[in-house]
Amino acid sequence: MVEVRSGRDGRISLADLESKLSPRVAALMLTNPNTLGLFEREILDVAEMVHATGAMLYYDGANLNAFMGVARPGDMGFDAVHMNLHKTFTTPHGGGGPGAGPVGVKAELIPFLPHPTVEKSNGHYTLDFKRPKSIGRVRSFYGNFGMLVRAYTYILAMGGDGLTQASLDAVLSANYLRKQVEGVLDLPHGGPCMHEFVASAHNLAPQGVKALDVAKGLLERDFYAPTVYFPLVVPEAIMVEPTETESKATLDAFASALKEIVEQARTNPAALHAEPHSLPVGRLDEVGTARRITAYLTGQSEDPVLRWKRVRK
Ligand SMILES: *Cc1c(COP(=O)(O)O)cnc(C)c1O
Repeated sequence: MVEVRSGRDGRISLADLESKLSPRVAALMLTNPNTLGLFEREILDVAEMVHATGAMLYYDGANLNAFMGVARPGDMGFDAVHMNLHKTFTTPHGGGGPGAGPVGVKAELIPFLPHPTVEKSNGHYTLDFKRPKSIGRVRSFYGNFGMLVRAYTYILAMGGDGLTQASLDAVLSANYLRKQVEGVLDLPHGGPCMHEFVASAHNLAPQGVKALDVAKGLLERDFYAPTVYFPLVVPEAIMVEPTETESKATLDAFASALKEIVEQARTNPAALHAEPHSLPVGRLDEVGTARRITAYLTGQSEDPVLRWKRVRK
């Protein structure tokens, strides 16, 4: 696997892509809009370059929230698409999983799809195992079928227009919030954004305040903290994805909380470092935890200490 770099504008560098394409390349995997929430404007050129070498273009559907009913990955030149149902289609994420995601392909890839495939004929569904070019079975029987039912239910409930509205609202929310964050945190990449944007807390470094402190300050103010330190191309990254479901009042409150935190970073950074103090746990000793678990796994300790409160014996 080889990484293709992004340019200064936060989008894929065609020069870097060019230097890495060769007949040995099978496929390029890309997200659009990308993780910075920016639309890859040169996607048609990317597709042309990739296809010219005989490779294929794979769409990481992590950011479909920006696009439903607005644009189609296939029209951008993508040959295969997966949909992260836990990101755009309401199924549980992470510990709430299990995950599942449909994969869509262009016609020429259909013979290679995993088997069995579900086929419909004369009003009946059957499982087709006789697919000579199939890459075979990649998952235990039906997979996490419940997740697919759940996502399908959401899609039916929303309807096509509803899904499009969700995307339009998600993009509007992100841009609305982005405007409010201007001048509060650094925004290393120019707007407008799609459904998310990435700010940087590096301007708070003189006060000894980091992205983690901003996240903890948000927890203290009753907000679920955004993803921090990702993507890696932005130092002290704070990734904000408000989604379509938050009201204007909530977005305004979030922006006020951010402003308050940044003000506190200037006037009283020590107080910010002590947050959160209203939650059951404050700052977790992540390094200590990693060390204890390593010691446990390597047989140097008998207790990985996985409780947050020590139980006295
Ligand atoms: C979330 C994300 C992933 C990971 O997807 P999961 O299905 O949650 O493992 C991959 N790529 C990008 C760009 C993402 O945002």
